Amino acid sequence: MSDASEKPVENHVFEADVARLLHLMVHSVYSDKDVFLRELISNAADACEKLRYEAISAPELLGSDPSPRITLSLDAAENRLIVDDNGIGMSRDEMIEALGTIARSGTRAFMERIEAAKAGDGAQLIGQFGVGFYSAFMVASRVDVVSRRAGSEHAWRWSSDGRGSYTVEAVDLADAPARGTRITLQLMDDAKSYTSKWSVERIVKEQSGHVPVPIDLIELPDGEPSRIGDGTALWTRPRNEITKEEYADFYRSVAGHYDEPSLTVHFRAEGRHEYTGLAFVPTAKPYDLFDPTGKGRMKLYVKRVFITDDAELLPRYLRFVRGLVDTSDLPLNVSREMIQESPILTAIRKGLTNRVLTAIEKLAESDKDAFAKLWDAFGPVIKEGIYDDFERRAQLMALARFRTTASGDAHRSLADYVKDMKDAQAAIYYMTGSNLEQLQASPQLEGFRARGIEVLLLTDSIDSFWVTAAPDFEGKPFKSVTQGTSDLAQVPKLDAKETPDAEASATVKDFISFAKTTLADAVSDVRASDRLTESAVCLVAPEHGPDRQLEKMLQGAGRLDSAAKPILEINPDNGLIAAVAASTNEAFRVDAVNLLLDQARILDGDRPADPRAFAERLSRLFSQALKG
Ligand code: ADP
Ligand code: MG
Repeated sequence: MSDASEKPVENHVFEADVARLLHLMVHSVYSDKDVFLRELISNAADACEKLRYEAISAPELLGSDPSPRITLSLDAAENRLIVDDNGIGMSRDEMIEALGTIARSGTRAFMERIEAAKAGDGAQLIGQFGVGFYSAFMVASRVDVVSRRAGSEHAWRWSSDGRGSYTVEAVDLADAPARGTRITLQLMDDAKSYTSKWSVERIVKEQSGHVPVPIDLIELPDGEPSRIGDGTALWTRPRNEITKEEYADFYRSVAGHYDEPSLTVHFRAEGRHEYTGLAFVPTAKPYDLFDPTGKGRMKLYVKRVFITDDAELLPRYLRFVRGLVDTSDLPLNVSREMIQESPILTAIRKGLTNRVLTAIEKLAESDKDAFAKLWDAFGPVIKEGIYDDFERRAQLMALARFRTTASGDAHRSLADYVKDMKDAQAAIYYMTGSNLEQLQASPQLEGFRARGIEVLLLTDSIDSFWVTAAPDFEGKPFKSVTQGTSDLAQVPKLDAKETPDAEASATVKDFISFAKTTLADAVSDVRASDRLTESAVCLVAPEHGPDRQLEKMLQGAGRLDSAAKPILEINPDNGLIAAVAASTNEAFRVDAVNLLLDQARILDGDRPADPRAFAERLSRLFSQALKG
C-alpha cells in the first residue's frame, strides 16, 4: 500500500463565479441556513440514483453492496457533521469540475438575482439554480470531500475553507468510503446545533423526508444507526394515503423549491401505456421562467430508477410544472437519446399534458381565488401555448383570463367577454401595451368606453403574438383598437343625449385635408375619428399588418426594417380642433398639425419624431400666446 504523505497536494483556485458565490453565501445573512443539509442530501441521493442507472448496464459496479444509503454522522465532541453516501462517487477530474466551477449558463444573471434578493429569498434561489454544494460553507469553516468512484481503485480528497482556493490529493483506499462520497463539515461555532440528533432529525424529516434513498443517522463515537428516512417512492403509494404535508415535502425535494405547490396532480394511467405521474404547479415563479434556454424539469423514472430530467415530458408552455413520471413501459436500459423519439414518450407527454390542463381547468371552476393567483404567476407562460400548440388552442383560449376595461381588478374569460358583447359588435377588441395604467389611459379607448364596449387590456409580451395567430374565439375575430377603422359607428353611444356624430363640419374637413398634405411624410392618412370622445388626436395602425404595439416590439428586436406609416385620427368634436381649424394663419396651422402629431406620439408612449423641431414649435406657440 502506498503512503498518502508521498502524494502531492494540488492547489487550485476557484473559478471567479464560484468565488463570488461563496462570498455571497458566507456574507449574506440567509435566514434559513438549514437548507445546506437538504442540498447535501439531495446530491447524495442523486449520486445513488446515478449509480442505480449505470448499474443497469454494468451490474458489477454494485459489488457486494447493492442497496443505496445515505448516512449522517454527528460528532458533537469535534463539532463535525459527516454526510456519507454509497452512490456513484467522483473521480479526481469530476471533483475539480463539479466542486470548482459552475457548469451552468446564466450564472451571472443568477448572481445578480441572489445579490438583489432579500434575506431568505436568496436561499430559495440556491436549490433552483443547482449550486447546492457550496451552501455547505454557510455553516462550515472547512469542508472535506473524500470520494471513490464506483469501480475505481483510486480515492481523492477535496478540501477547502471556501476562501478562494481548494486542494485535491490522492488518499489511501483505507481512508475512503468503499464506494461513493463522504463530506465532512467542520462546523462554525454558531452552527453547533447540526450535531444535535434531535434538530438534525427534525430538519431531515421536514426537508428531505421523501428522497428516494433511505437515510440513517448515527451519533459518534458509538451510537447505533437509526433510520430517519425510509426512501420509499412516495408516488407509488395510493393517493388517499398521502397527506398534504407529505406532498408538499416531496414537491420541495423534487423541485428544489421552497414554497408550497399551488396544485398537485397525482395519477396512475392504465391501459395501453402504464405510468404514474406526480406533477406540481409551484406558487412562486421559478427564477428562470422566462429564460429562453430554460427547460422543463420533469423527471423521468423507469420502474423507480431515475433516468433523466432532460426528456421533454411537457410542452414548453408548461415548463413551470415540476415533478416526475415513472413508467414500466420503457426498457430500463433505454438510452437518453432514444427517449425523445420513443412513441411511448409521445403518448406520456400527451396524457400528462391533458392531466395537468384538466386539473388547472378544474381549479378555475372550484376555487376562483386560487386559480387567479396561479394565472397571475403562470398565465403569461400558458398563453404561449395559444401561439405554439395549435391542437390545444381552443382549450387554452378558454382557460385564459384577462384584465379588461370592464373587469377592474378581476379576471375575465373570453366566454365572459363574448356573452356580454353589444348586439351590433362584431369583434373581440383588444389593446396591447407594456403597462396596465398606460393602457387604461389611452385615448384610443374613449369611443369604446362611450359605447360600453369591453376591451381586453393585454400587457404580456406574448399577447401581441397570439392575438395575431388566434383566428377567432367562438367565431368572433380579434381586433386591435389601435388598428384600422374601428367600425364603432354601428354601436350607439350609451349617453343618449350625445347623438351620433353629425358629419364633421366643412372647416374641420378642410383642416383634415390640410393636415394630410402637411404630414404626408409622417403619416399615411389623416381622418376623423369615432374612437375619440375627449382627446383631440390619436394614432392608429393601418388595417392590415401588425398593430402599433407589435410593430414597436418587432422594431425593437430588429425584426422589422421599416414600420408602416401610422394613421392620425382627429376628433372633430374636440373644441381645440374646431378652434385651430378656424385659424387662417398658415404658419400657425403648420405648427399646430405637427404638434398634434407629436402629442399623439407622446400619448402612445413614444417620443416626438424630431425633438428639436418639437421644442421650437412649442416655443413659438408660447411666445405667440404671450404676445396675444
Ligand atoms: P447540482 O446538484 O444541481 O448539480 P450542486 O452544487 O449541488 O449542483 O452539486 C454540484 C455537482 O457536484 C453535482 O452535479 C455532482 O456532480 C457533484 N456532487 C456533489 N455531491 C456529490 C455526491 N455526494 N456524490 C457525487 N457527486 C456529487
Ligand atoms: Mg445539488
